[in-house]
Amino acid sequence: MDRPHDVPDTRPRTAGLPPPADGPVPGCPFCPGAEDQTPPERWALRDAGPADGPGWRVRAVPNRYPVIVPPEGAHEVVINCDRHVAAFWDLTHEEASWAARGWWERERAVAEQTHRTFLFLNQGAQAGASLQHTHTQLVGLPVDPPRLAAREAAFTAGPCPLCADLAGDDARVVAEEDGLVAWCPEIPPLTAVVRIAPRTHAPRWDRAGAEALGRLIRRVTRAAAQVVGTDAANLWLHQGRAGGPDAVHWHMEAIPRIGTLAGLELGAGVYGLVLDPTAYAARLRAAIGGTAARA
Ligand SMILES: [Zn+2]
Ligand SMILES: [Zn+2]
Repeated sequence: MDRPHDVPDTRPRTAGLPPPADGPVPGCPFCPGAEDQTPPERWALRDAGPADGPGWRVRAVPNRYPVIVPPEGAHEVVINCDRHVAAFWDLTHEEASWAARGWWERERAVAEQTHRTFLFLNQGAQAGASLQHTHTQLVGLPVDPPRLAAREAAFTAGPCPLCADLAGDDARVVAEEDGLVAWCPEIPPLTAVVRIAPRTHAPRWDRAGAEALGRLIRRVTRAAAQVVGTDAANLWLHQGRAGGPDAVHWHMEAIPRIGTLAGLELGAGVYGLVLDPTAYAARLRAAIGGTAARA
């Protein structure tokens, strides 16, 4: 963090995410009243009204610009909230649970139709988000992408690396919620990564675990943004395929987007780490403590 720089970095330190809007935002295809701007919904958590009209809290629709389409695969969007909120941590405790319930419902359905699912959330332009209104994407794939296959191989090669990482002292633990733990991995794949998983080994999430995940993401990503000074983040879910090996320990990686991948990272796949995981965890715990009164 304290390395000398003499190349001016003119990128904003934060993605400049706006605060929640007071009502539906004109032009936003994910706000209530704009349901005709998306393909027909696949699932919704609804208080009232028929499908594809207002009255929902969470809404899942096919992606209008899919990377893959049936029957080879699927690409859906879960609109996390009916309010125009850009930062996931601006959801309420209940809204975060409801959003994750939607992820779980759709992941389960797409997993029945495709070989492998991949769920991810991009927040902020620096992390690849093209629409501000918080949403999560779900892709169903006909094959195992190389990185997911390598990830699965790491689990099946020996003792579970996540269980091993969690077996030591709790100095790198950031927060816990209903059986899930958020911690800073001893050897993170990128600087500032926070990992969230059940304390007890489980290959695939269940509904309660998913809902707790949503609540924990909200707390952890807000703290991480405060500590590293950027709103932009990528989150993704790794879990075992339905019917796949039980060796996989399901988890989510939360990656605040600090810095830029350069020659060593892109060319050689070697990633330097600029935050000590134990010290980073302590700062995250302090940030969560400082925001607890507002949670
Ligand atoms: Zn919106
Ligand atoms: Zn495990």
